[in-house]
Amino acid sequence: MCRTCGVQFAQSHAPPPRCPICEDERQYVGWNGQQWTTLDDLVAEGRRNTIEELEPGLLQIATRPPVAIGQRALIAQTPAGNVMWDCVSLVDEESIQALRARGGLSAIAISHPHFYASMATWSAAFDDCPIYVHAADTEWVQYVSPGLRLWQAETQEILPGVTLINTGGHFPGSAALHWADGAGGRGLLLVGDSLTVVMDRRYLSFMYSYPNLIPLPADAVRRIAASVRPFAFERIYGAWDGRTVASAGKDAVERSAERYIRFLERLP
Ligand SMILES: [Zn+2]
Ligand SMILES: [Zn+2]
Repeated sequence: MCRTCGVQFAQSHAPPPRCPICEDERQYVGWNGQQWTTLDDLVAEGRRNTIEELEPGLLQIATRPPVAIGQRALIAQTPAGNVMWDCVSLVDEESIQALRARGGLSAIAISHPHFYASMATWSAAFDDCPIYVHAADTEWVQYVSPGLRLWQAETQEILPGVTLINTGGHFPGSAALHWADGAGGRGLLLVGDSLTVVMDRRYLSFMYSYPNLIPLPADAVRRIAASVRPFAFERIYGAWDGRTVASAGKDAVERSAERYIRFLERLP
């Protein structure tokens, strides 16, 4: 896997020549040049996953010390099975057993290519469970595994009450996950990078590139806000530890889009 983005590549005898995800203008190649690592190396370096319950029915899995971009994965525990939203790079036997004890995984859904991480290995560990990746981002998949499900259209319900929403923006296939029964039935929205929970945890932002600070145009931000508008949700969980809009999540999306567009368009 790539050291800088943490994305796993298909098995090969020699390291891949390059990482297309890092060479893209939304990411960057590490300052010491392209470097690679393996699952075994991550374990040998002393990295471990931690699993925490964030609220009833919602788990977080995170790697300490963090790998690459350092995102967390979230797991929605539904009566129809557990869904892992986004992915971490480290997969070890201890985390697999810990998740098995909590009901395993019925599906994996990914927001966008920066968080593909070890989705192939996670899926393989849970009977090749489906990995939902939007078809618009197919070109970025580096490891085609039996679980891969390329979905199309604007929304797709993958388990009862669990719906993927194609927001576009950061990537054409960027997605958010809506869980209707989350937050005690008030709804949860799990996001990646097309909407990101910012540091004050009251607002979101919307960027084409975070490391290179490239904003999105106003029409893309309008589309992102419109894509989640039909759904009810109280809280929004972002891709990093602690990045949570704790209440009135729908208002947060609307006022954040309005503010962002106001700055882009120099309105008063
Ligand atoms: Zn990379
Ligand atoms: Zn990203």
